Amino acid sequence: MQSQGKLFVVGIGPGSDELLTIKAAKIIEEADIVIGHRRYVEMVKHLAKGEIIESEMGKELERVKKAVELAKSKKVALVSGGDPCIYGIAALVVEYLMKNDIKIDFEIVPGLSALNAANSLLKCPISGDHAVISLSDHLTNWDIIERRLRILLRCDIPIVVYNPSAGENNLKKALEIAASERGDFKVAMVKNAYRKGELVKITNLSELDVQEIDMSTLLIFGSSESIGDERSLTTPRGYSVKYEVGAKTLEAKKIAEESASILRKMIPGDTLKDEILRRAVMATGDLSYRDLIVFKGDLNSALKAIRDGCSIIVDVEMVKAGLRRESIVAVSFAKGNMTTTRAAEGIKRLADRIEGSLVGIGNAPSAAFALCEIAEKYEPAFIVATPVGFVGAAESKEAIRKLKIPSITNVGSKGGSGVCAAIINCLIEHAGSD
Ligand code: SAH
Repeated sequence: MQSQGKLFVVGIGPGSDELLTIKAAKIIEEADIVIGHRRYVEMVKHLAKGEIIESEMGKELERVKKAVELAKSKKVALVSGGDPCIYGIAALVVEYLMKNDIKIDFEIVPGLSALNAANSLLKCPISGDHAVISLSDHLTNWDIIERRLRILLRCDIPIVVYNPSAGENNLKKALEIAASERGDFKVAMVKNAYRKGELVKITNLSELDVQEIDMSTLLIFGSSESIGDERSLTTPRGYSVKYEVGAKTLEAKKIAEESASILRKMIPGDTLKDEILRRAVMATGDLSYRDLIVFKGDLNSALKAIRDGCSIIVDVEMVKAGLRRESIVAVSFAKGNMTTTRAAEGIKRLADRIEGSLVGIGNAPSAAFALCEIAEKYEPAFIVATPVGFVGAAESKEAIRKLKIPSITNVGSKGGSGVCAAIINCLIEHAGSD
């Protein structure tokens, strides 16, 4: 029994000494042998006092075999970039030891992953639920990567993309999938985080310069909740929704209560329909909505769809901005090369996702007309349509009412994003409170 040896699989962080853990630095310094891919060994060899063994890319198994063999009698630090468990060598070591039933003293030392490094540089694109995917098809079939990516994009959470430049056309294909699932959205590119050549860029998917992306680059796809400018990309955690909605000060509360009691006198009643009418009147300050709103079909279809987690698809950003739940904005799917409005084009491009969704049209009559065409084939669960204006708005809402799909609309030219969002919010809150 050679009791002196031990194998440490050591994460060395993104590439600066300052972000190497104290533990990792100590192990590298005290190891008899430091072994690893040349690129990583290069980053830490100034700390090592023992022998250095550099190996090539693609020779992972040989490297592991060698490290394990040496660790039977020596202290060996097998170094890996970032965290060794994330697209690193640690899992291969564990698998090799298990399959060959090798019992050696073995420890994994965590490191800061590229994800953590990029997250700090970008100022929190990842602040809650998120996904991580690698575009390398070296160990995973491309079909599987593609399927996973598609599903993740539909979850609408920030997605971290490791190895974006792996393969021939992987990135190109991945970006096409991203555009087809989510339209245009914020994307961050972080190259050489915390090491020489550091570069951070925040852009839209459609403007991403793929030439700049290499094996030292990490991409982060923002979710529809991510906000950013040229220097930062942040996904708020929802504190503002939790703590800032509604009246805060005594004065504001008094006004809100007074306004609610005035509304109750104008529209008494405790049904969901009464509440929706009050919301519409409140959002617009216009009592005529009491008589203009038209309910068609069963309101429960909307509540059920919301509880089942249906997509909410809206025509324009203004509706989305007012909503208490995430939604997909049709205009961000438009490419502007059809002979129609961007809202209508976006709705058409989203056709197959309309099925089973709740659609809110707050602005564009053209989007409402487009929805009527699509709804013959892909039926939404519910429609809230309050497009506004003097060109086609009234007619488009009439057309929506002719569909067999349950809906809330209003008669005439009045309407707008605010009233649309107010009605959908009322449905969302009601769905959540039962
Ligand atoms: N184990 C590593 C990941 C290895 S896979 C970790 O936890 O970070 C290699 C990929 O990681 C690269 O192609 C790149 O996408 C990303 N990466 C690693 N270090 C990086 C850095 N300093 N800056 C940007 N991306 C990095």
